Amino acid sequence: MANPMADEQRRFKGSDEKNPFEAMSERFDRAAQLLGLEPDLYAVMRVPSREIKVYIPVKMDSGHIEVFEGFRVQHNFARGPAKGGIRYAPDVTLDEVKALSAWMTWKCAVVNVPFGGGKGGIICDPRQMSLGELERLTRRYTAELIDFIGPDRDVPAPDMNTNEQTMAWIMDTYSMHARHTVTAVVTGKPVALGGSLGRREATGRGVLFTVNEAIKRFNLTPEQTSVVVQGSGNVGGIGASLMYDQGYKVIAISDIHGAIYNSKGLNIPEVLEYLDRTKSLEGYADADHLANDELLEIECDVLAPCATENQITSHNASKIKCKILAEGANGPTTPAADKILFKNGVFVIPDILANAGGVTVSYFEWVQDRMGYFWREDEVNQRLEEKMVASFNELSQLAELHKVDTRTAAYMLAIDRVAYDTRMRGIYA
Ligand code: NAD
Repeated sequence: MANPMADEQRRFKGSDEKNPFEAMSERFDRAAQLLGLEPDLYAVMRVPSREIKVYIPVKMDSGHIEVFEGFRVQHNFARGPAKGGIRYAPDVTLDEVKALSAWMTWKCAVVNVPFGGGKGGIICDPRQMSLGELERLTRRYTAELIDFIGPDRDVPAPDMNTNEQTMAWIMDTYSMHARHTVTAVVTGKPVALGGSLGRREATGRGVLFTVNEAIKRFNLTPEQTSVVVQGSGNVGGIGASLMYDQGYKVIAISDIHGAIYNSKGLNIPEVLEYLDRTKSLEGYADADHLANDELLEIECDVLAPCATENQITSHNASKIKCKILAEGANGPTTPAADKILFKNGVFVIPDILANAGGVTVSYFEWVQDRMGYFWREDEVNQRLEEKMVASFNELSQLAELHKVDTRTAAYMLAIDRVAYDTRMRGIYA
């Protein structure tokens, strides 16, 4: 079994950076201070409501039982049920899940959807597991959490290494316990099982909508805008593809193994087809091959880190040469890097806005499941665009009003909304 402490030390050792929960807390503290948040509310909102750790026994294909460690953190319920993805990874840690759950609270508040924040994770290496093992792992994890999740309690969704199939297993397991089908217990399900049209593309599409707004500030059109994307999965791959379709010049993209670069622009549908076929960008013709950290330093108009946390740190922030940083991933930039980026005039579309398209359409999915009435894809996309553009404008206005950077403005917007609702509800004692 993976050792989370060792992983945590490996990931942050020798660095002046903080772990993701500390990074989140530092930003929370700054925004709370600027808002003049009352000490009592500060104390309540800074910590998660609930941290659940489960040990999940799974019968492997070989016949032996392996015990996996899993988490679900429910950060805040003030505005509605907890909401957030489940991540399967060998190096996922409780601190990481805590940070991700808090980011979900702030993200849902930034786009003003009636959810709190939650996140889950299981320490496992899905690439080494069969489909049957993954199904048994998912079903047992769901059963362990059965009293804590539900359409009005906590609504999971996919995250790294989990997908529509994972959500279908969770929905089915929960429904077997409830003795009737409960589609609204998860989002990101297959469309045939109560999923929403447009959900799969929603996070990448949300990145596109916020980038569309940001380039206006630089008097750029999509055709004049060069884009570099880190990651080619659900967020990066789809985001790059949608930007390509809209005329943006995507000059570089990467996966975990490395990056490809062509200053004249890449043919993204062709790149993604190649990646799908060969499972790697290695050997792709018509492009230079670079390491992931070199990709981040390419001169471009828009840099979209859409892979994982802590990619832009105090070590490389001064080498970032983009005008706009569109954070498709959660927590790709550390607080120490923020200071350098803002000093250098980089316009940051913070993660809790840039990648909020996913949770926004998850909210639409939950609404459609509960109505039992499903919308057309163009309706979903139009409602998503309205929410993303409105949130972008609210955030920009707040940043200008308070003369703060966009990251601080995003936290201020979110914390203010959660604080208002907490104050109105009062603390039950
Ligand atoms: P994914 O697994 O589909 O894709 C991840 C991509 O990043 C892959 O191309 C992978 O090769 C690459 N990658 C992984 N680790 C890397 C590393 N250390 N260095 C460089 N590249 C690496 O995952 P996803 O769903 O696209 O999620 C990506 C990020 O976006 C995560 O931070 C996730 O929390 C966030 N996010 C996802 C959604 C969603 O709807 N999928 C919504 C909001 C935020």
